[in-house]
Amino acid sequence: MCPGCGYVYDETLGDPREGFPAGTPWSAIPDAWCCPDCGVREKVDFVAPGRVGA
Ligand SMILES: [Zn+2]
Repeated sequence: MCPGCGYVYDETLGDPREGFPAGTPWSAIPDAWCCPDCGVREKVDFVAPGRVGA
């Protein structure tokens, strides 16, 4: 998930808006990909969701 805005990338859903069909694994996302919600965080900034925040 994005630490800046809370956007969560779900592998089962992908993100069709970004050109990633459902089932696209996180490992297949380009390193230079930016968060589609805030646009200021890149893949390397993302953290695994779960224990953080809500
Ligand atoms: Zn973001």
